[in-house]
Amino acid sequence: MRYNFHTHSCFDDGKDVLENYVKAASDKGLKALGFSAHAPLNEANEWCLAKNKLASYCRKVKILKDKYREKIDIYLGLEMDYIPRTSEDFVKIFNNCALEYNIGSIHLVKNKETGELWFIDGPEENYVNGIEKIFDGNVKSAVKAFYDQSCEMVIKEKPDIIGHIDKVKMHNRGRFFSEHEKWYQDLINRLLKVIADNQTIIEVNTRGKYTGKSDGFFPSTAILEKCYINNIPVMISTDAHEPSQVIKLFDEAISLLHDIGFRETQTPFFKARID
Ligand SMILES: [Zn+2]
Ligand SMILES: [Zn+2]
Repeated sequence: MRYNFHTHSCFDDGKDVLENYVKAASDKGLKALGFSAHAPLNEANEWCLAKNKLASYCRKVKILKDKYREKIDIYLGLEMDYIPRTSEDFVKIFNNCALEYNIGSIHLVKNKETGELWFIDGPEENYVNGIEKIFDGNVKSAVKAFYDQSCEMVIKEKPDIIGHIDKVKMHNRGRFFSEHEKWYQDLINRLLKVIADNQTIIEVNTRGKYTGKSDGFFPSTAILEKCYINNIPVMISTDAHEPSQVIKLFDEAISLLHDIGFRETQTPFFKARID
């Protein structure tokens, strides 16, 4: 059973209109498709839904939900950034928009002493410059800030799903730190404990791999093995930014989970068996 709850359309930084994702998903036999535009942020940016488009986004998703009811289950969601003291409370947006689910993600990491934001998801030079300028070249502080902020998000905002939990590795590619080092493992273990305590679903995000920006999925296989051992539920997301990506590398991710030992994935709405 295939599904995807992580998609971006031209309402935010995706490439196509909502309906074309529904058609692609329906053609490819998905059981369910969720829309997860980047929720509006107070910080100036080029990738989030504008505040004045939020209502029309929600309305359009609901229209498609009804129109395609016989063919595919459509869900209204948002991918919400958590930035300490500046982002809106998840629950407030969630209730105002009658959302059906949310994905909590960190794209902007705050240096709590200076208030500066490190953008880990844009061009590689922002990533490298951010470590130098925002965290004084101290990569451990930068990475720790990312995982501290992730823990804080899960505890305070309780998203249904946590998005690309180790995205901070994306532009690293073994240059600034090794994922095998103890300090890094300790940060991962602490976040996984918080996730397990809050019953958050971890997504296996295939986007980094199919865009070539990352060598593997988010999270790394070693983290997924820990999820399996600790009974943390996982699901697959393709983080599609165009209709052709609605199911990209889904089957590869399923087979990785199967190899690790998982026999089911869990979305906010149903469980899907892995045979
Ligand atoms: Zn994201
Ligand atoms: Zn996304």
